[in-house]
Amino acid sequence: MSSGKSNLECFERAQRSLVGGVNSPVRAFGAVGGTPRFFERARGCHLYDVEGNRYVDHVMSWGPMILGHGHPEVLEAVHRAVDAALTFGACSPLEADLAEMIKAKFPSMDLIRFTSSGTEAVMGAVRLARGFTRRDLIVKFAGCYHGHGDSLLVSAGSGALTFGTPSSPGVTRACGAQTLVLPYNDISAAREAFRRFGGQIAGVLVEPWGGNMGLVPPVEGFLEGLREVTLEDGALLIFDEVITGFRVPQGGVQGLLGIRPDITCLGKVIGGGMPVGAFGGRRDVMEHLSPLGPVYQAGTLSGNPVAMACGIATLRCLTDRAYVELEEKGAYLEGAILEAARSAGIPGSVTRLGSALGLFLGPVPRNLEEVKATRVDLYPRLFHLMLDQGVYLPPSAFETFFVSLAHGTEDLEQTGRAFAEAFRALKGM
Ligand code: PMP
Repeated sequence: MSSGKSNLECFERAQRSLVGGVNSPVRAFGAVGGTPRFFERARGCHLYDVEGNRYVDHVMSWGPMILGHGHPEVLEAVHRAVDAALTFGACSPLEADLAEMIKAKFPSMDLIRFTSSGTEAVMGAVRLARGFTRRDLIVKFAGCYHGHGDSLLVSAGSGALTFGTPSSPGVTRACGAQTLVLPYNDISAAREAFRRFGGQIAGVLVEPWGGNMGLVPPVEGFLEGLREVTLEDGALLIFDEVITGFRVPQGGVQGLLGIRPDITCLGKVIGGGMPVGAFGGRRDVMEHLSPLGPVYQAGTLSGNPVAMACGIATLRCLTDRAYVELEEKGAYLEGAILEAARSAGIPGSVTRLGSALGLFLGPVPRNLEEVKATRVDLYPRLFHLMLDQGVYLPPSAFETFFVSLAHGTEDLEQTGRAFAEAFRALKGM
């Protein structure tokens, strides 16, 4: 089944009425060149474009599709929800169902508020941290992306990095001045910031694995140190687990490391492909949010019943067994990529958190500067060499990529072979 249109025709048409032909910048292939693919259908781990080409998908809608596309139990739950109502703009029991499932894996989240995106979740968390502490400053780390809220679009990763506009025009200087940007994995820089701005910092916002500059793991002691220094000062620790949430059987990085942040932001997997974000945390903090407290936050479609049903069905399928399989698939792909790089003589390294992977053409970096020192210049070529072999990687060097439960042995072997071929072609460039 294909529409008979070409990707190029679709892109040209889209550009006549959509800004850059897209609704999220990285989709325009600006960082890798060439024509974006226009998709018609997705099943399992495969994407099908308008020309009828099939790709092994390693973007998985940037993370939510951990079960694969079109999982039958998820589709059934969504169909049932659609038949019942598209939206109430009022309460439904599904909201507490999903909240309870999240709390079971994230015991630090006493109370939860759902939003329709990760961006909104982080914006809510930051406003709440400021409202709770009655302080203005927010600490973030270079290379971490937390959505496109104004005060956080400063030294952001992925899309913003790719386009070379780390802070966007339109973000006021006043806004930028309330955001302190520190190097990732540098606990002494964080301690120094607290020495200088003690009593003024509302919260420290961090991706506990840096998922928007590739996938940069935290060095030992970094997150623990942030917990310590925030507790000493009375600032809140905010974990943005939008990417890392539900990647591991322990819930997120907080469960893995036994660190209890004050607020956690979630998105992606908890919606299973529908627009869902969430923030939640300490009861006394969350009770400052309206309607219990004075900090305002709301949404017409927040807690949307179809989105909730999709998230519930997705989390229900994420059994212990599912995580074992995801771990095996992730490890297989990690091994295949490393072997492909080694045999081609390419200096490649892979980082991995369960089913999420980071690929670096160089040693494993600890921060944004080290990410930039890898051969990111080779990524556009690598991306197209993979695409030509039917493997869809993120169209930017700074993104995490994924395997899902639906990736079978044959699919992962195809990706492995494609990497081997691509690395051979890259050798000498
Ligand atoms: N936080 C992190 C860590 C993210 O990776 C993203 C998006 N990739 C966001 C927040 C924003 O989420 P959304 O795109 O749903 O607004």
